[in-house]
Amino acid sequence: MTDTSSAVADKIRCDACPVMCYIKPGAAGACDRYANHNGELVRVDPHIILERTVSHGGRLVPFQAGGDWDGKIVHGPSTFVTAIGAGTTYPDYKPAPFIVSSEVDGVDMVTVVTEGIFSYCGVKVKIDTDRYLGPETATVRAEGEAVGHVTTSEYGSQMLSLGGVHHLTGGSKKEGRVTCDTLMDLSNGKSVELTIDGGATVVVQAGHAPVVNGLTEERMRVGCGSATIGMFAKQWQGKIDEVVVVDDHITGVLSEHQAGKLLDIPDTGIKMKGRRSTPGRYFQVAEPGTGWGGTNISDPLAILGPFDPKTARPGLTMLMVSTTGEHAAYYQLDDGLRPVETEMPDALKQSVARIQENCEPALCTVLFMAGAGGSLRAGVTENPVRLTRSVKDALTRVTSGGAPVYVWPGGGITYMVDVTQMPANAFGYVPTPALVAPIEFTMRLSDYAALGGHMESVRPLSSLKDNAELLPWPRPGPIPGQGG
Ligand code: SF4
Repeated sequence: MTDTSSAVADKIRCDACPVMCYIKPGAAGACDRYANHNGELVRVDPHIILERTVSHGGRLVPFQAGGDWDGKIVHGPSTFVTAIGAGTTYPDYKPAPFIVSSEVDGVDMVTVVTEGIFSYCGVKVKIDTDRYLGPETATVRAEGEAVGHVTTSEYGSQMLSLGGVHHLTGGSKKEGRVTCDTLMDLSNGKSVELTIDGGATVVVQAGHAPVVNGLTEERMRVGCGSATIGMFAKQWQGKIDEVVVVDDHITGVLSEHQAGKLLDIPDTGIKMKGRRSTPGRYFQVAEPGTGWGGTNISDPLAILGPFDPKTARPGLTMLMVSTTGEHAAYYQLDDGLRPVETEMPDALKQSVARIQENCEPALCTVLFMAGAGGSLRAGVTENPVRLTRSVKDALTRVTSGGAPVYVWPGGGITYMVDVTQMPANAFGYVPTPALVAPIEFTMRLSDYAALGGHMESVRPLSSLKDNAELLPWPRPGPIPGQGG
């Protein structure tokens, strides 16, 4: 039960967010998070409490570095109160819904939990693929609505930045609603189809392989074309005359590369298209695409010019391979010094398999990112900036649904969390639109008092368990009950 309501006739007015729904008896509000149950406003979802367990495959590591580990499997509190299902502090003058005290190793601790309503939030999506998803800054759409953009690619991954206050509140009503749905589905571990202007259609689901233009991606590159030449040069020595690792970013050529030079691999007279960066390293050998090594080519010979007759000879052998080993072909030069594809010797098949073996499974990673604003911090302390300082001073630990977060340096409490580390369906929404996400602040009770905490609202852990759902912690395996 909560006190965030006022009754009008038989309806209850919920004031847990700015929408201020009037809710009939037996009905739920617009977000399905609050309902009118026999005249009382109730939070529909159970409040989630995590209990440490090893029977569900929790990782057996010492908890909280520092101090001597006493050899117990876990070290620290065995019960953790999350903010999932806790309720919010709106309209921002109230203490957080639960401020819970417990004792850990003789020290009085307090965890302050609240569900934050985040208009300023988004997700950063890392998609492990070499395939070209679209130009940087291109608009990313869901259901035809702009929900974010393509940002700089990283080593072996394409990155998307979705959500943010401009898409949530700055566009049309539909854009805000679709953005909110997209963020919530991705954060709750569901799959979402995204289309990129001038690029690909990609199905994204946290912890699962991306599907690009209908093809499930299997592997993440072991390195760029140049790095792959360096890593495997010795394994090719004596077995082949030339190797080209085709890569949209940096294509590598064994005979010209420094690794080939140091291994005394002779020149072959190969001529590459594209822009030579340094010996054996070529940029822009083709356009980006979904073909070999993230280029748009399906025939790798398209990136070669004619072999130099002064150096090349008939019978010269050449392997062309992509950065993931997904594509590979073996050639011999004919009498006219033209490469002719032929059956690949077993020794070279093994080297291609070795490249594949060194590529990790391709996954989508979804990091939820939000800023805990002053109003949310006011639910923790009467002087919100003190909470920020306490986090920066590492006196207060921030978690989201019990999962560790990364707090950005600089101002505010801007954090990121891996959604696969959180319990299922940890995220909700309100139709303003904004996402509702759990956030917890844990600190010593004495530190809480010192930063001006709402000491009158502190309650013991034992007062909670009756009405809560207990889940194992750390959360085991994939998100339960959500997709493949
Ligand atoms: S949208 Fe949900 S939280 Fe907001 S007022 Fe309505 S029922 Fe309450």
